[in-house]
Amino acid sequence: MTRLAQLRVAAEVQRARTEMAERERESACMACLTEPRAVVLPCGCKCYCGPCHERIVRGRPGDDAMTNEDDEPEPVPRCPLCSKQF
Ligand SMILES: [Zn+2]
Ligand SMILES: [Zn+2]
Repeated sequence: MTRLAQLRVAAEVQRARTEMAERERESACMACLTEPRAVVLPCGCKCYCGPCHERIVRGRPGDDAMTNEDDEPEPVPRCPLCSKQF
């Protein structure tokens, strides 16, 4: 293999890795970024894994105000993709 060919292969591998990482990020839960998305919101978007969805839905104001901890980013849960409330 020539040096140029080796460089091409290396670039190709690098590109494939980046693509794979991007795809992984796209399919990861938008709240914890680690779990795969599992819950389809009422708006039709799939953004969260089960536990995160439950946590976000439970964090609704007026529902259980006493348990509203500091890790809730928004008082009214919104779909991060289309911004519809749910
Ligand atoms: Zn999650
Ligand atoms: Zn949505």
